[in-house]
Amino acid sequence: MNPSELIRKKRDGAALSRDELHSFIAAYVDGRIPDYQMSAMLMAVFFRGMETDETAAFTDVMLHSGRVVDLSMIVGAKVDKHSTGGVGDKVSLVLAPMVAACGVCVPMISGRGLGHTGGTLDKLESIPGFRTELDVEEYRRVIGKTGLVMIGQTAEIAPADKRMYALRDVTATVESIPLIAGSIMSKKLAEGIDALVLDVKTGSGAFMPRYDDSLALAQALVAIGSKFGKKTIGLITEMDQPLGFAVGNWCEVVESVDCLRGGKVADLMEVAYALGALMLVAGGKALTVREGLRLCEEAVWSGRAYEKFLELVRAQGGDASFLEHPSRYPRPACTAEVKASCSGYLGAFLTRDIGVLAAEMGAGRMHVDDVIDRKAGITLRKKLGDAVEEGETVALLYADDRGKLERAARGFPSLVMIAPEPVNVGPRCRTVVRTGGEEPWASFSESAV
Ligand code: URA
Repeated sequence: MNPSELIRKKRDGAALSRDELHSFIAAYVDGRIPDYQMSAMLMAVFFRGMETDETAAFTDVMLHSGRVVDLSMIVGAKVDKHSTGGVGDKVSLVLAPMVAACGVCVPMISGRGLGHTGGTLDKLESIPGFRTELDVEEYRRVIGKTGLVMIGQTAEIAPADKRMYALRDVTATVESIPLIAGSIMSKKLAEGIDALVLDVKTGSGAFMPRYDDSLALAQALVAIGSKFGKKTIGLITEMDQPLGFAVGNWCEVVESVDCLRGGKVADLMEVAYALGALMLVAGGKALTVREGLRLCEEAVWSGRAYEKFLELVRAQGGDASFLEHPSRYPRPACTAEVKASCSGYLGAFLTRDIGVLAAEMGAGRMHVDDVIDRKAGITLRKKLGDAVEEGETVALLYADDRGKLERAARGFPSLVMIAPEPVNVGPRCRTVVRTGGEEPWASFSESAV
């Protein structure tokens, strides 16, 4: 195999065969192809795309770069969720323990921060001691014991995605339907699941901001899941502002724990409950979405979802006392308040740029081996549609690095538009995507499914 000939072929717009994809990716995983050639290939795919069969072959090659875990010894349905990525998207931290507390096993393989979006692994690793790198035996042990496990790609499971994901993060090659589909589905198909629910983001903080592109991504993901024999359903959700109030790593853990303890962050819980209901229906624990919503709400208000999260944290080596008493966590060295320059209504966020700003403050990576500042982050004080007075605090920024914090504080005001008139804010949950077609969430959630 001649790597540069394959890069040239893709660069010139031809489809790669399964054998070509296999030899290129296998050589990358075992170190015979360097990062610079894989970066060129990723950029070629970014510009040229992939055909439908090529994307399925790419996913299959990515999946079989490692092991496919067998969880058949664990009784009951195994169902997972994956998000296509957003800003302040901490849904997994609330959703996974909530669904596990309802009796559906959740084996979850997630990623780190990608592009302008945060990653579940980085958030979990901000909990002192929490280990996201488990081998297959430990992965099975934790899910068998707690009904829930949350890890990252490893040298054994989805190793191709582990390396390509980190490379895409720093080479501006994320926003591509075939690359996103191969990345997400290779991890998910390796986990040992029976069914998958996909949270496909749309709007200014999504990788596919235009609704039509988000729909195309949802359709591609659902088609791949079905092709590989997994019950797969997508929910398109709005990402036109950060989800919840916190953007960062530790601050998102704190907000998630607050919600698990009954805190009412409306948009975050709207999405978490909707996805949870779909997971319970897919896992056979609820007959209808309405019943699924009720079971999820019960799991939260009874405290079972919170207890399940603590159990998971302990099982993966984390110090749960920081979740019980967040004030014990080290404080960021520097903070800054961003104030409104005029009165009005919060009309729009440049959500993607808020994610970039948080990453530049230290919450994400500029280079593959950057060390993250777990405490760096943003807490919004206002959400879309809120009334704002001139001089009122719109957001609080914090980080250990003063220079980064000051730069971010100067940049933040241009990422928030204040409108003279009230603005309408729609629901977060928009469209359900299944093999047979699409349906608005509002009618789907009321139907007898
Ligand atoms: N999530 C992933 O795991 N991969 C992507 O490419 C995007 C979101």
